[in-house]
Amino acid sequence: MTIGVIGPGAVGTTIAIELQQAYPDTLLIGKQKNTLNYFPENGHQSKTISVTPYQDITQPLDIVFIAVKTYQLESVITQLSPIIHEETIIILAQNGYGQLEHIPYPNSYQAVVYISGQKNNNDVTHFRDYRLHLKDTPRTRKLQKLTDQTNIEIILEENIEEIIWYKLLVNLGINSITALGRDTAKLLHSSHIRDICRGIILEGIAVARAEGLNFDVNTLDSIMTIYEGYPDQMGTSMYYDITSGRPLEMETIQGYIYRKAQEYHITTPYLNTVYAFLSAYQSQF
Ligand code: NAP
Repeated sequence: MTIGVIGPGAVGTTIAIELQQAYPDTLLIGKQKNTLNYFPENGHQSKTISVTPYQDITQPLDIVFIAVKTYQLESVITQLSPIIHEETIIILAQNGYGQLEHIPYPNSYQAVVYISGQKNNNDVTHFRDYRLHLKDTPRTRKLQKLTDQTNIEIILEENIEEIIWYKLLVNLGINSITALGRDTAKLLHSSHIRDICRGIILEGIAVARAEGLNFDVNTLDSIMTIYEGYPDQMGTSMYYDITSGRPLEMETIQGYIYRKAQEYHITTPYLNTVYAFLSAYQSQF
């Protein structure tokens, strides 16, 4: 079994390091040759891991995880064909939704990622969790078996749509307000901001319902309860990206829901406003 993890960032490096414990030949694949330092959670001994460039891969891979930011996916897709074969299982370990439509290979699956970490230059720090939720299919069942002896936990879902949409809604609320507010979760102390956050999520729920998902006001309450547990200083990926002047994963979070709302003729004034401001920012790239 040959395994490759594309995207030597926070998520990809964690997956590759953990798979290497049972499958030492697992490759961490990046744009160029490199060596990264990996700092596991709880201050365990750090490790180093090599990054292999695409051109150094000599054997087609049986399993490929893709863990780049969603706006980087296009460049990965153009480099896939020489390193995979007809039966390769492709796991998209990314936030957002709608990316699978762009992958022209049949055995591709969207994962819902619960792996938390951060990359700074050549240092990758893993904070917590090793979990990937995937649609339950014969192929993903095989993959689950394969990861049995590793820390990577694959949860097979009968209704993956619900799991994807729930995370999408969690990201929709907090990423929107922290990106536009250019501040951390402490923004939620303001009742005005909480109202806006609720408004955006309720619009997202209306779109999810149009898509056939069984979400309601209890979904909103459960998401707001998750936010209450966030420490004041916690930023989101969109907050860090916007304050560092980097592109945002907005087209696969706000943009995806916005386009679905248009399709179903659902009025989403909060989402339209957020999407307009984020699009104006994103247009510089
Ligand atoms: P990240 O740290 O930015 O890692 C992405 C890596 O992929 C970077 O090292 C990037 O290199 C590399 N890359 C870019 N284009 C590439 C290409 N064509 N081929 C190979 N490598 C390429 O991102 P991340 O935080 O791991 O996030 C990955 C996905 O997981 C995102 O969708 C994110 O939303 C999601 N997620 C992240 C977390 C988290 O805690 N980090 C949690 C849950 C979900 P350059 O930097 O040089 O471009």
